[in-house]
Amino acid sequence: MLERLRFPLAASRGRRYPEPSHAYRNDFQRDRDRIVHARAFRRLEDKTQVFSEPNSDHFRNRLTHTIEVSQIARTVAGTLGLDEDLTEALALAHDFGHPPFAHAGEAELNRQMARFGDRFDHNLHALRLVEGFEQRYARFPGLNLTFEVREGMAKHSRDFDQGEFPELDEYLPGQRPPLEAQLIDLADEIAYCTADLDDAFEAGMLTIDEIGAAVPRSAAIQEAIETQFPGSPPRIQFLEGLRLLIDWLVTGLIEGTVDAARRSGVESLDDVRRHPQRLARLAPEPSETAAQLKRLLYGSVYNSAALQQEREQSMEQVALLFEYFLGNPEGMPEPYSVLAREQAAHRVVCDYIAGMTDGFLRKTVRHLNLSL
Ligand code: MG
Repeated sequence: MLERLRFPLAASRGRRYPEPSHAYRNDFQRDRDRIVHARAFRRLEDKTQVFSEPNSDHFRNRLTHTIEVSQIARTVAGTLGLDEDLTEALALAHDFGHPPFAHAGEAELNRQMARFGDRFDHNLHALRLVEGFEQRYARFPGLNLTFEVREGMAKHSRDFDQGEFPELDEYLPGQRPPLEAQLIDLADEIAYCTADLDDAFEAGMLTIDEIGAAVPRSAAIQEAIETQFPGSPPRIQFLEGLRLLIDWLVTGLIEGTVDAARRSGVESLDDVRRHPQRLARLAPEPSETAAQLKRLLYGSVYNSAALQQEREQSMEQVALLFEYFLGNPEGMPEPYSVLAREQAAHRVVCDYIAGMTDGFLRKTVRHLNLSL
């Protein structure tokens, strides 16, 4: 459908440190594999998606969420005729920069950094990981990913202008990323909205009726399912409906993007880059469904009393650890303890904590006997 806008592999700006090509994997396939073999990828397994101490073995963590995003993004890229390998690499790395305890951890790190007139940004952190902290090659630091994968990570959730983030000035400020990269944020949104609905239903935080009241499309789907499978248990009816809801949103992303590309008149990758807005988008009705889902999840799940309490405890632990390592930078392992002598200590402490898993952070707080 949009083959003309597919990123041409041969046009890649390549790697920071040139490497010989591989016999049977192209550069984007190699990037995908490097991402899967990275420590940051394995750590996603013990990073909170929404529920930080789940009462069930079935809730998503950031790794299973990442795999769901990757499947959705690949389906969309493949259907549109875009580069699936580039899309997959970006999807698999899209949450690399997330600190422990999800948004609670991010908010607390940001609060700590603000004391020093600085801030924490998970996209920038993800780049610092793949450019430096992942150390597994003799000839270069980091994973030496192609420019397009690094650009897609830098522009994961937003574009920027020249000078807005001086450290990102090499990533074509003022330009849109290729469509492969534009898809990721939307595939992420579809994946987490529907998965969080599933986990919240499983946790007893939302009923089918409550979902239907907030999301008319879901009510219509559920009504059709009840007619089709009247004897099925509610949980199976819910899951049948959830599949249709995912399908509705994914189809909306495919059709919305095709439509936006057609209306904009873009004919090439250069046109995509120079277009004033991103072209990947959901069609209007599915977009409204996604917005209703988000409102429901914020009101009934993310900001619920149960999660709020978890959130406060998590923030407290991050704060304790930040304060401790600020006063005892030599207590961090290498390379952080060495870097803390050369760079601003608050930045190094932030990098160290942001890389931790939930479990490792809790263990460290316990081990150091830290408490208020
Ligand atoms: Mg995500």
